[in-house]
Amino acid sequence: MPNPFEIAQSQLDEAAKRLNLDADLHHLLREPMAEHKVRIPVRMDNGAVKIFTGFRIQYNWSRGPCKGGIRFHPEETIDTVRALAAWMTWKTAVVDIPLGGGKGGVICNPKEMSVGELERLSRGYMRAVAKFLGPEVDVPAPDVYTTPQIMAWMMDEYEVIAERHVPGIITGKPVNVGGSFGRGDATARGGMVCLREAANALGIHLKGATVAIQGYGNAGAHAHQLCNEMFGCTVVAVSDSRGGIHLQQGLECHHVAEFKERNGTVAGYPGAKAITNEELLELDVDILIPSALENVITDANAAKVKAKIVAELANGPTTPEADNILHQNGVFVIPDFLCNAGGVTVSYFEQVQNASNDRWKEAEVHRRLDEVMTTAFTNVFMRRAREEVHTRLAAYLVSVERVAEACVTRGWAGSRNK
Ligand code: GLU
Repeated sequence: MPNPFEIAQSQLDEAAKRLNLDADLHHLLREPMAEHKVRIPVRMDNGAVKIFTGFRIQYNWSRGPCKGGIRFHPEETIDTVRALAAWMTWKTAVVDIPLGGGKGGVICNPKEMSVGELERLSRGYMRAVAKFLGPEVDVPAPDVYTTPQIMAWMMDEYEVIAERHVPGIITGKPVNVGGSFGRGDATARGGMVCLREAANALGIHLKGATVAIQGYGNAGAHAHQLCNEMFGCTVVAVSDSRGGIHLQQGLECHHVAEFKERNGTVAGYPGAKAITNEELLELDVDILIPSALENVITDANAAKVKAKIVAELANGPTTPEADNILHQNGVFVIPDFLCNAGGVTVSYFEQVQNASNDRWKEAEVHRRLDEVMTTAFTNVFMRRAREEVHTRLAAYLVSVERVAEACVTRGWAGSRNK
């Protein structure tokens, strides 16, 4: 399994070379600015105490407070969190919101924990990292296997420590405790704006276009619904960690979501053909939406991807070797930190609403999200055309340039483009 942080660094190296970035600046941007590793004792339901390991990594705060989710995953490592924190830095920069990048993670398997154990772990994590966070320092959010409920517990724990209301300590909260309307499907919705713009630019008709979605968490399940509702696409295949389903005439999103709710997986959905996650990536579809974990499109399968557009709602689904293969084969990739930036964009809106004790209507959130994502996509698309590079590198050029400029302005490292 390729190391995601080495991948993130090699992507940066390529951009730094092309931007002719000063060596000290490049060196600064290659590593996180701060890393915290914590141990979290949790009383389990059987009475025993289990010690969990957690991380919070603050990659770069030159453009604003660090921002990024918390992942609960059995295979979490410090290097995955480092990579995700780096990608958050480029993500907030590509959509040009005044934030830096950070990420958190806990090594655990939420699927094997009771609700009470999850709550105690969430509160324990917040107690362990509280001193490193703050609305003007670093603001977490949901990610893989963390939910609005978990955000609410974490906010509540922080407020006990702070002895006051601090809703801006975390985003992705339920709407009844300071969450923003429109945050729930924001990651997928932002990706749909990119998809709409990409299809327009490439002359692809989305109505009736076939789609395969890998992953059926927050991003994947909402992508299914929005592909249907916004564009009238036919979603022919979806999957989750336990397997996939394929139905050429199209899968109805509400039925699949209900089935997953009842059974914990989409696998076994009646009337559809069972397929593996690997087979899903190679289906003959117009659009492929990886929405699960990193490193799923590699040099081993990239040549078999038949989609015209790959819209990356997951973080880090494509390795650099696969990127080159897709580019050579004329597959248009909407890179992760652009495609999935809708989540953090609405998180930013949530912060703004919390700071001003305000509440925006859902339609207002959608309008602003569309504007931010359209502008970001257009910038990257133009950069790609101008520099004749693949889309991920174009996005890196836009983002690294912005972060580098902020570092230079602050006097942290040498001047750019010398
Ligand atoms: N975890 C999400 C991401 O990877 C959202 C981060 C946020 O809202 O701060 O972009």
